Amino acid sequence: MSVKENLIQIKNALSSNVTLVAVSKTKPNEMIMEAYEAGQRDFGENYVQELVDKQQQLPKDIQWHFIGHLQSNKVKLIVPFVYLIHGVDSVKLLQEINKQAQKNNKVINCLLQLFIAREETKFGFSFEECANFLRSELFSQLKNVKILGFMAMASNTDDEGQIRKEFRSLKEFSDKTSSILQLNFSVLSYGMSNDYKIAMEEGSTMIRIGSSIFGARNYTT
Ligand SMILES: *Cc1c(COP(=O)(O)O)cnc(C)c1O
Repeated sequence: MSVKENLIQIKNALSSNVTLVAVSKTKPNEMIMEAYEAGQRDFGENYVQELVDKQQQLPKDIQWHFIGHLQSNKVKLIVPFVYLIHGVDSVKLLQEINKQAQKNNKVINCLLQLFIAREETKFGFSFEECANFLRSELFSQLKNVKILGFMAMASNTDDEGQIRKEFRSLKEFSDKTSSILQLNFSVLSYGMSNDYKIAMEEGSTMIRIGSSIFGARNYTT
């Protein structure tokens, strides 16, 4: 199937309150343009240099999502144009985003990344660290970042029950934290090609889909 056909099929399966981010990492501009011409405007990338190059070459009304692990020293390269930074996994990184945003006279939309998986390898705050941070004086001082909600990745497993449980734990955390701290977190970014249906059933409002739209990635080229 073509990129356009894949996109239409996924869009038809989406709940009405869910935003689709088309994850185009490693994929050429021609494929992104196919999706663009089919009406897609939200695209996600994991690598800073690749994102910067694509942003320069592609239409300016694309909303670029940075979904990878962001190093503090690269923040300044994406702040001028990025629409939403998903994987904010440390206070230090958020402070750097705030600093660069201030220099650019902007407020940058961010999601805090939570660690919900069983694996050791995934980045993110624990629920407790995150709640403590959101209550802190420091958080209230960061005026040039706007936390829209949370992002997470489930364990890489075939066990649907486990994946469901992990997504549900984040949804519960978000609801509880929003009500206790009276903050309005409206974005929950979880669900990828393999688990987005479960993610939507468990309250996701933003799914990040790569291979089911653009085909498998080939990292050797
Ligand atoms: C690559 C990636 C995706 C998309 O993964 P697919 O399995 O290809 O849909 C989603 N989120 C993050 C953080 C990614 O790195």
